[in-house]
Amino acid sequence: MPSRAFRIGRSATGLGLFAIKPIKRAAYIATYRGRVITTEEADRREARGARYMFELNSRWTIDGSPRWNVARYINHSCRPNAKPVGRNGGIVIVALRRIEPGEEITYSYGPEYLEYFLDNGGCRCASCRRKAALRRRKRRLERKLAQQRASAKRRRGRAQTARSQSSRLRRNSR
Ligand SMILES: [Zn+2]
Repeated sequence: MPSRAFRIGRSATGLGLFAIKPIKRAAYIATYRGRVITTEEADRREARGARYMFELNSRWTIDGSPRWNVARYINHSCRPNAKPVGRNGGIVIVALRRIEPGEEITYSYGPEYLEYFLDNGGCRCASCRRKAALRRRKRRLERKLAQQRASAKRRRGRAQTARSQSSRLRRNSR
């Protein structure tokens, strides 16, 4: 068995899986392991707070909650570098592109997951946090520019009043 290409480490949102050596595009990374249970049973477990359910289809789901399922540590990203694919009736995670050592391995959890996020304060993946930070920076900049424009207008207004006052004064002194 080849040695692992990753380690479990701290990510921004908890634990994550990180490459420790270069992973080639389309290379196998890990298998999503766990018992196959009915999707009905998975829904019941999820309602009780279970996580790491990987739905194979409307009938069958992998309960990936055991710790020996290292694939459960892979976090969601909206700009993932890996993806789950069906293989031999199970799920394996493969690289979407070359992954460099130190990079966090991520895949997209899919539209249902994002829908859940819409109701729960937004996605916290690296890509979304970067976008949110950019939006905040842009808003700050816009506020600053608006303030500068407003104070420039006030200054212009004051200058105009001063000019008209001084011309009145000149007229009166004639
Ligand atoms: Zn995201």
